[in-house]
Amino acid sequence: MALHQKLPEAFSSIEEKAAWLDETYGHLPASEIVRLSIEKLFPGSIGTVSSFGADSAALLKLIADVDPATPVAFLDTGQHFGETLDYRDQLAADLNLANLQIIHPKADVLGRLDPSDDLYKNDTDLCCEIRKVEPMARAVAPFDAWFTGRKRYQSAQRADMPVFEAVGPRIRINPLARWTTADQANFMRDNDLRENPLVAFGYLSIGCFPCTQPAEDGDERSGRWAGQAKTECGIHLEGLVAIDGRKDTMSDSNKVWNGDSFIADDWIEADMIEALVQSRPAILPLSAWQALDEERKEAHGAPIGVRLDPSEDIAAIVDALDDLPIVALSFPAYTDGRSYSKAVQLRRAGYDGPIRAVGDVLYDQVDHMVRTGFSELSITNEPTIAKLERGELPGIDQRYQPSLDDEQATNRFAWRRHAA
Ligand code: SF4
Repeated sequence: MALHQKLPEAFSSIEEKAAWLDETYGHLPASEIVRLSIEKLFPGSIGTVSSFGADSAALLKLIADVDPATPVAFLDTGQHFGETLDYRDQLAADLNLANLQIIHPKADVLGRLDPSDDLYKNDTDLCCEIRKVEPMARAVAPFDAWFTGRKRYQSAQRADMPVFEAVGPRIRINPLARWTTADQANFMRDNDLRENPLVAFGYLSIGCFPCTQPAEDGDERSGRWAGQAKTECGIHLEGLVAIDGRKDTMSDSNKVWNGDSFIADDWIEADMIEALVQSRPAILPLSAWQALDEERKEAHGAPIGVRLDPSEDIAAIVDALDDLPIVALSFPAYTDGRSYSKAVQLRRAGYDGPIRAVGDVLYDQVDHMVRTGFSELSITNEPTIAKLERGELPGIDQRYQPSLDDEQATNRFAWRRHAA
């Protein structure tokens, strides 16, 4: 019986499904877990994300033995060792990997937050967030499940790791969870697998060049973020709860304010149609939203809104305003005020649905955003969140333009406004 085909109907939650999978299949040898997952449990909707590090070849070999066209994503942080990049290409050729996908950080985010490529010196968490965690979310967005090569012995955080676990709407599969260092070494030797050349220099866990050192005393992960409390980059942590696009990858650093309080947020900010998650409300950029045909919208099974960047005109959506469940307007920088005007235009055009501000939303802007028609502000700025959580509402007494409510500008430079 193809029991897996009954799984979606059989479980009330992804957690329940993961627990059942773990109990039913978690005891199987790694090779069988991989084969079962690719061929039976998640055919056509499973992949892996590989660092092409010290241990990566084993899992990739197991996957390639079943189907070398299984998607293998590599997060190119821009900070990898050159040896790792060479190794990636050589190993992919060895194993005939036919669907290697290189995922890069977003150029605009790097330009804004790490223009000198040295953010790791001051804020490794934010650096990992923009170079690994967010790209990771895009990497796994198309899948229902993905493999990792993690093992329980590697760290205290991984000691109780199940083989099948729920992460957001997906299943994460750790086929090698029970493997020991001897299992790993034997598998590499028995299959004559190519090794990352850095292993020979004592690197037992290999990540980005600035944050990786040779391991000490055989402790595999001791060379990662040495001297810091940090032990994981975040792509494996539970903070990556619902990896479905930008909003979810921000995890709990992203909060939505409705003018009075922080509210629950169900919307996924997907960057592309492929990042849509069935039956989850989503906000797409204008170009992707325009490319979505009615049939696909219907089939999605949840509302789909649109995000406009400052350079995009509301004329592009004005005919659809009656049907739009939400419009997001972006502030790529707090100094860019063009989206204030768009909110006013939308309200004046009769749009009464939610208008959400996304991007660089700072405390000083909150009052003006609400006055100009925004009903939701997606905030990542920690000081802004902290002030609003303390009930410190911003107020301004200099109005440089009137709000929607016939408010009179109190611009002290009135002569500029009214100059003939
Ligand atoms: S491992 Fe270091 S360089 Fe790489 S993304 Fe994280 S902080 Fe940045």
